[in-house]
Amino acid sequence: MPTMLAVSGLVHRYGGGATAHTAVNELSFTVEAGQLACIVGPSGCGKSTLLRCIAGLITPSGGEIRLHGDLVSGVPADLAVVFQDYSRSLYPWLSVRRNVEFPLRGRVSGRSARRARAEEALSWVGLADVGGKYPWQLSGGMQQRVSIARALACQPALLLMDEPFASVDAQTRAELEDLLLRVRREQGSTVLLVTHDIDESVYLGDRVLVLSRSPATIVADLPVDLPPDRDQITTRGSTTFVDLRTEIARLLHHSPEHRPMPANDLAADRFLAAERAEAARQATEARTR
Ligand code: ADP
Repeated sequence: MPTMLAVSGLVHRYGGGATAHTAVNELSFTVEAGQLACIVGPSGCGKSTLLRCIAGLITPSGGEIRLHGDLVSGVPADLAVVFQDYSRSLYPWLSVRRNVEFPLRGRVSGRSARRARAEEALSWVGLADVGGKYPWQLSGGMQQRVSIARALACQPALLLMDEPFASVDAQTRAELEDLLLRVRREQGSTVLLVTHDIDESVYLGDRVLVLSRSPATIVADLPVDLPPDRDQITTRGSTTFVDLRTEIARLLHHSPEHRPMPANDLAADRFLAAERAEAARQATEARTR
């Protein structure tokens, strides 16, 4: 598979002089075409900074990013981003169909071609019959499906997803995870998904890149040796899944300033449950912001 994304020696500092803060330090990795790579790291480690650099929204202080060989020096035309906060990324005054059509202007010529592309993308996410509704008439999970359809309609070379399922309830989250797995397989999409949920990174990823505490650097690049057809019950209960999530949790909490990962499985489960509770707390905070 050809390389779709190449991040080399990426450094990003906020501010300057004595108060400069290095958010990302000497970070290098590639994502191959058709791959779903997950990035997992603790809160505040620099995940969003990394994504903003890849999306061309901020200019890195050092290193370079290439998307299918081209140097990223602004927002690439063939890149789409799905954010956590669907309520702020969809236009409330446009119907669902027109939300999906909107970014196709300048990409697809002809109104009827744009309409057809939007209808097709909505059908990929199971929303073929809600095109005429407005985002605020849909549930949170449905709104995030619209965001995914809108991103996929652009047929991006790379789909960036920033904590895309962190603002929905657990049941909807599982449904959206399965939808993403199905759609990316059907569309052959290349996806880079950032999450702080360890289990989600293993469930979704072909690979999991584990980031250190701030400043972000890669501490491990782990292949996920699970079959492509995943299931919320059997996959999550498999030994491979449990071993990998435990390994990632250990890697994430290895640094001495952090509480060490408990040695036995029961304690490890409690530890992971606490991590998930913290993620849920942050999601609630994001929803009420
Ligand atoms: P994450 O997405 O992993 O939570 P961020 O990339 O948002 O982490 O932030 C990484 C570090 O950079 C944090 O310490 C954060 O406070 C700092 N940071 C993020 N954005 C800015 C900014 N615009 N100015 C200064 N510091 C920032």
